Amino acid sequence: MKILVTGGAGYIGSHTCLELLNENYEVVVLDNLSNSFEDSLTRVKNITGKSLDFYHADLLDKEQIVKIFSENKIDAVIHFAGLKAVGESVSIPLKYFHNNITGTLNLLEVMNDFNVKNIVFSSSATVYGDPASLPIKEDFPLSATNPYGRTKLMIEEILEDLFRSDQNWNIALLRYFNPVGAHESGLIGEDPFDIPNNLVPFISKVAIGSLPELSVFGNDYNTSDGTGIRDYIHVVDLALGHIKTLPKLFTNPGVVIYNLGTGIGYSVLEMINGFKEQSGKDIPYKIVDRRPGDIAACWADPKKAKKDLNWEANKTLADMCKDTWNWQKKNPNGYRESNREN
Ligand code: NAD
Ligand code: UDP
Repeated sequence: MKILVTGGAGYIGSHTCLELLNENYEVVVLDNLSNSFEDSLTRVKNITGKSLDFYHADLLDKEQIVKIFSENKIDAVIHFAGLKAVGESVSIPLKYFHNNITGTLNLLEVMNDFNVKNIVFSSSATVYGDPASLPIKEDFPLSATNPYGRTKLMIEEILEDLFRSDQNWNIALLRYFNPVGAHESGLIGEDPFDIPNNLVPFISKVAIGSLPELSVFGNDYNTSDGTGIRDYIHVVDLALGHIKTLPKLFTNPGVVIYNLGTGIGYSVLEMINGFKEQSGKDIPYKIVDRRPGDIAACWADPKKAKKDLNWEANKTLADMCKDTWNWQKKNPNGYRESNREN
């Protein structure tokens, strides 16, 4: 069975390619490398001892997508490709709408033309906005608080409309909570191009000494210690969620929606302490104002995925911190030193 992975060179995509190869799927990757390095895929091949086909292609160029479908008999698509920085999406919304929405429309049109109607889409817990209660279930009301989140919500709606028009489509909307961690080999991991926006990559850069201190965005929330609470999920657990979703797609389920989270929330201070313990490094931090747009707390009810997909997250907070640190210290400059021995 051949799977096209858009955005497969990226953080979650590369971990998913690895698990797909482990499960003996054939893998074709489409990525424009706008936020990733091809070296992630070389490393996936080294870890698994298996090969995959890489197309350096852009979803905004429809001819390039057509070429891939002409040269490969694709059975299903896992669609990760997209821009994902919330703050940047507020400053340059048109770029986000164009890349994420137009890119997805191009992909869906080509899939339709080639009669490939199975797709797993990377959605996000951001589509729940500020939830009225916790834990969050899949049928909670949806809203968007920034252009990035709106692209996720719009693509979910586009996919639902597509299914309404043609019931041959099988669509899984996977709403990720907060992906962190890295493969236990320390060979692949998250490698932000700029100063990280997200908590764990930021902590990791402070621990390695390339950033001086963490700013904790507010300690006056109505939470156990006043700092924000999130449902952090190990990226390998998340990747395995996709592996469990694929067989479901081939049972012709129509549109299915799953939260991929652990069901457990940790505060910013708990994350700092977890990372300190696993790295043995001090993490200097200061409390600053809340970050605009942040919510106090967010964690998943992951029972639906457990029941329908027989999937649940198994890795602990210690695993998430240990594996992030292992990747960071083996690759202080991420993929930029690709000829170093690991
Ligand atoms: P990432 O940036 O590491 O991966 C995305 C990949 O898509 C990159 O390799 C990038 O080069 C590629 N890409 C972007 N636009 C493209 C285009 N037009 N054509 C071809 N390739 C393109 O991000 P990630 O963290 O691996 O996220 C993967 C998906 O999961 C994204 O859709 C993201 O919105 C979603 N998601 C991520 C998180 C998170 O916190 N990491 C949370 C929820 C949802
Ligand atoms: N956070 C923080 N300092 C940072 C980055 C994040 O205190 O430099 C906090 C943020 O306010 C939130 C949590 O860490 O409570 C997770 O933030 P992240 O950006 O990783 O994820 P998201 O807000 O998208 O869930």
